[in-house]
Amino acid sequence: MKDFNNSATILEIVRMSTEDGPGIRTTVFFKGCTLNCAWCHNPESISPKPQLQWVGSRCIGCKTCLSVCRENALTLTEAGMQIDRTRCTGCGDCAEECPGTALEMMGKIWPLDDLVAEVIKDRSYFETSGGGITLSGGEPAMQPAFAAFFLKALREKGLHTAVDTCGQCRRDALEIMLPYAAMVLFDIKLIDPEAHKKFTGHDNRRIIDNLLFAADYIRSHVHPSDMWIRTPIIPGATATPENIAGIGQFIAAHLNGAVSRWELCAFNNLCRDKYRRLDQPWVFEEENLLSKSFLEELADTAKRSGVDPDIVFATGATCLSDN
Ligand code: SF4
Ligand code: SF4
Repeated sequence: MKDFNNSATILEIVRMSTEDGPGIRTTVFFKGCTLNCAWCHNPESISPKPQLQWVGSRCIGCKTCLSVCRENALTLTEAGMQIDRTRCTGCGDCAEECPGTALEMMGKIWPLDDLVAEVIKDRSYFETSGGGITLSGGEPAMQPAFAAFFLKALREKGLHTAVDTCGQCRRDALEIMLPYAAMVLFDIKLIDPEAHKKFTGHDNRRIIDNLLFAADYIRSHVHPSDMWIRTPIIPGATATPENIAGIGQFIAAHLNGAVSRWELCAFNNLCRDKYRRLDQPWVFEEENLLSKSFLEELADTAKRSGVDPDIVFATGATCLSDN
């Protein structure tokens, strides 16, 4: 862990989550991701650097930010705030001075001790619900030494820990994190390597390799049921019977006994505004939500693939169409 510098870039800390592992959890979203999924619901997590965003509804038009910015990166026009991202250094001065909180920095540097102190404030919720802390992102394995020390500190305080990973990372990153992770949430998005490359920027060979390594590690070191597989169900990309059957057959052949749950996470379009605030296009902008009947058909396909783990749909009220 020679690269450990005692601090990490964290996008967000979300409390009272019930979606990122057992019980009530505090989820720490690391900034920076090794994949670039076309459907990404957290586009602000992909860049490893802090980024500025402007929320127009909060802006009172005072122009304080324009005089604060030493890089002349801001222009307030009729159409809203223009951020010249080739000039912006991410210093955060404008966000600090903005009286309307219209400018926000996405991503903050957290020293290790401060982050530990922040998340253990929720200890009573963890103890009553069987919850704990989940490292997510982005990709925690992009800041592996910090993540490992963070997990270690939490375990020493008797807290349950989970790592949520896309698996596209160096093997030694997993090797230093896994000893302190009570469970692992591992994504399998697409089983076909070429389709994986098309939609995420990388094929899945390293991911599958790391998944098999993590499963072996969990079988031999931790409680054997402490791994969940997660698959985003994205129309036109992952949401095909062939992909779901292929992933199911892979789980049945290689992961039964190591995995207790396979989550199918339905597409939603709540992130549309995030892309707009980042001045980024999103190819799923006009995509319709999936129907309940289609999701049930996929669940049947998943069950027929012979998997042992429970199959669970992660579908909030915002994820289903009316038909
Ligand atoms: S400082 Fe904040 S409120 Fe004032 S113009 Fe800039 S963004 Fe708007
Ligand atoms: S973050 Fe810093 S460089 Fe970027 S716009 Fe604000 S003040 Fe200027």
